[in-house]
Amino acid sequence: GNESRMQAIYQITNREPMPPKAPKRLEDLWACDVFTLSKMQESLPKDVFKSVKKTIQTGESLNIDIADSVAVAMKDWAISKGALYYAHVFYPLTNATAEKHDGFVSVQSDGSVISEFAGKLLVQGEPDGSSFPNGGIRSTFEARGYTAWDVTSPAFIMETDNGSTLCIPTVFVSWTGEALDKKTPLLRSNAAMNKAATRVLKVLGNSNIAPVNSSCGAEQEYFLVDANFANSRPDLLLAGRTLFGKPPAKGQQFDDHYFGAIPERVQVFMQDVEEKLYRLGIPAKTRHNEVAPGQFEIAPYHEAANVATDHQQLIMTMLKTMAKKHGFMCLLHEKPFAGINGSGKHVNWSVGNATQGNLLDPGDNPHSNAQFLVFCGAIIRGIHTYGPLLRAVIATASNDHRLGANEAPPAIISIYLGDQLQDVFEQIKQGNLKGSKSKGVMHIGVDTLPILPTDAGDRNRTSPFAFTGNRFEFRAVGSGQSVAGPLVAMNTILADSLNWMADKLETETAKGTELNVAIQTVLKEVIDNHGAVVFNGNGYSEEWHKMAVEERGLRNLRTTADALPVLNEEAIVKLFSNLGILSPVELASRYETYAEQYIKSIEVEAKLVISIAKKLIYPAASRYLTDLSTTIAGLKEIGVDFDTECAHKVSGLTKSMMDLVSKLESSLHNEDFDSMEAHMQYLVKTVRPLMDDVRKYADGLEAEVADDLWPLPTYEEMLFIK
Ligand code: ADP
Ligand code: MG
Repeated sequence: GNESRMQAIYQITNREPMPPKAPKRLEDLWACDVFTLSKMQESLPKDVFKSVKKTIQTGESLNIDIADSVAVAMKDWAISKGALYYAHVFYPLTNATAEKHDGFVSVQSDGSVISEFAGKLLVQGEPDGSSFPNGGIRSTFEARGYTAWDVTSPAFIMETDNGSTLCIPTVFVSWTGEALDKKTPLLRSNAAMNKAATRVLKVLGNSNIAPVNSSCGAEQEYFLVDANFANSRPDLLLAGRTLFGKPPAKGQQFDDHYFGAIPERVQVFMQDVEEKLYRLGIPAKTRHNEVAPGQFEIAPYHEAANVATDHQQLIMTMLKTMAKKHGFMCLLHEKPFAGINGSGKHVNWSVGNATQGNLLDPGDNPHSNAQFLVFCGAIIRGIHTYGPLLRAVIATASNDHRLGANEAPPAIISIYLGDQLQDVFEQIKQGNLKGSKSKGVMHIGVDTLPILPTDAGDRNRTSPFAFTGNRFEFRAVGSGQSVAGPLVAMNTILADSLNWMADKLETETAKGTELNVAIQTVLKEVIDNHGAVVFNGNGYSEEWHKMAVEERGLRNLRTTADALPVLNEEAIVKLFSNLGILSPVELASRYETYAEQYIKSIEVEAKLVISIAKKLIYPAASRYLTDLSTTIAGLKEIGVDFDTECAHKVSGLTKSMMDLVSKLESSLHNEDFDSMEAHMQYLVKTVRPLMDDVRKYADGLEAEVADDLWPLPTYEEMLFIK
C-alpha cells in the first residue's frame, strides 16, 4: 500500500522548521578553514616561506628539504583547529572525490604517543587505490599509485560529524608516472596552453609576459527532494533519477519557478551551504531558483581552473552532505525527472595572465583587440577541428538524457559568437574589414572592436558553446560531472590552435610581412576553413540538425556510445600525446573507464527497472485488480451492471508491462560482445528502449490504480511538497 508515502507526507508537514542561523560576518568566515599563504607566512621562517611561495606560483613540486617545515606548520595549524587526522584528497576517474585518512598519531618506543607529520607524508602519500577505476593502466604498469600535494591548491580543514580532518589536494599517479586521476591532465593542459599562448603573445609584440592560466566559473544546477520521499524511491537512492513516474498535472508550464522566491526551508539550507563554502575560501556568489520546481542553482565567482575544479568538487560534496542535514536529498543527476527540465553545469572559461589580462576580453585599444581576435580565432579553429572531443568529454549515461532533448544544448557542437563578433569575422572573411554594425571603418591593429554585449538578454540559450562577452560558456556539461575533463579538452584544443597560429605568424613575420597583415591572413584562413562551426541560430531546430550534418559536415553524436569512441580516433590520440597531456595509454585508459561506467550505469538502471516493476508496481496493480474484480462480481450478484473497462485496462497494462520486463531481463543475459563499443551500442539500441517501454506501461498504471495502493511517491509529491 501507500503507507510509506503517507508516512513521508506526515513527517514533512509536521517537521519543526530548522531555525535560521544568526548571520556571521563574512570577514570572520572567509577562508578560516584554509591553510592560506598568509597563514603560512605567519608560521614559517622567512626563507622557507619565500621558497614555498615561489613553488606555488610556478606550480612545481615542493622541495623535500623545506617540506618538513611546511608539514609541521600545517599540522600545528590543523591541530589548533581540532583536526586529528589528515587526508590526501584525490580525484579518480569517476566524478567523485576520494580520500585516505591517516592519524597524526605516532607511537614512540616507550609506548607514549606524539603527533607527527613529516614532510614526506605531505609530499607523497600511498593510498590503497587499487579499487579505483583505471582502465587497466596499473595492471600494465605498477600495481600501486601514489598521491602528491598539488601545491597550487591549498590545504584545508573539513569538518564532519566525526571530527575534523586536514585535507591535502593531490595528484594521483602510478609509480611510472601515468596519470590515474583528473587533476594531473588538467595541470598538464594548463602548462601546454601557457606555452602556446606565450608564443603567440610574443609574436604579437609583447615583451613582458606573465604565465598564462585558464579560469573557470561553473554554474551548478541541482534538485532538492525531501529525504522522506527519496528514501522510498529505490530508483532515486541507487540511480539518482526516477525510472518511473507520471508527469504531474502542474509542471513547469507556468514558468513561475524561475527566479521565484526561494522557499524558506531551502533558503536556510543554502545559507548553511554558503557558510561552509566561505569557510573553505570558495566564493559562492549567486543562488536562485531554476526553471523546474524543486530545482536550484549555485554559482561561485571564477577562479584559476585548477582551484575552481577542486572547489567545484567541494561544492558538490557540500550540497549532498548539507542536504542530508536539512532532511533533503540533493540530486545532481542531469535528468532526475522525465518531462521536467534537467540540470547542467555551465562551465565559464577564459584564459589570461597578470600582464596582458583576460585574453578573451576585447579590450579598448587596437592592440588588445587584435590579440583578442587571434585568441578567438584559435578557439573557432579548435572547436571546429575537435568538436567531437568536446562532445566526448561530456558523454555520460545521465547526460544523454539531456543533450539534444529540446531543453539542453544539442549534441552537435557549434559556437555562438553573437551578432557583432560574427559580423567582424564575416568581414575578415570578405577580406576587408569595412566596419561593424555599431562602428565606422575598422582595420585590425588600427581601430577598436564594437562593444560586445555581455548581458544575459543577448544570450543564445540553445548553443552548447557560447561567447559571452569576455569568456566562453560551455553549456552542455553535465550537472554531476567533474569540470576537469571539459577544462582539459578546452585548454588542449586551444593549445593546439595557438601553436598552429604561432607557426603561421612566426613564419610570416620572419619573411617581413607586416604583423597586422599576417594576423588578418591567418584569421581569414580560420574563418574560411572553420567558419562552419559558427552558428547563431536556434540549436534546437530540426533545420539546424539537418544543416549542421548535411551542409556543414559537423558530427551529431547523439549518445555516449557514439561519442566516447572519439577518444580512440587517431587525431585525438595525437593531439593529446603531442602536447604531453595524455599519452596514448593514458587516453585509452580513460576511454575504457568511461565506457565501463556507461555500461555499468545502464545495467544498474535496467536491473532497478525490473525489480521496481516486479516488486512494487505489479503487486499494486494486482491488488487493485483484486479490489475491482471483487466489486464487479459482488455487484453482478445483486444484479447491478458495473463497467468493467477499468479492470480490462489495468489488466492489459499490467500484462504488457510484465511481458516487457521479461524481455528486458533476457536482454541483459546477452554478454557476447566484440568490443566495449559494441556493448554500448547494444545497450542504446536494445536495452534502453525496453526500459522506456516498461516505464510507459508502469506510468499508465499510475494513472489508473487507486492512490491508496500506489507505493512510490509521485512526481507531484516530490516536486511540490517541501
Ligand atoms: P549567467 O547565469 O547569466 O550565465 P552567472 O552570474 O550565474 O551568469 O554565472 C556566470 C559565471 O561566469 C560566474 O561563475 C562568473 O564568475 C563566471 N565568469 C565571469 N567572468 C569570467 C571569466 N572571465 N572567466 C571565467 N569565468 C567567468
Ligand atoms: Mg550561464
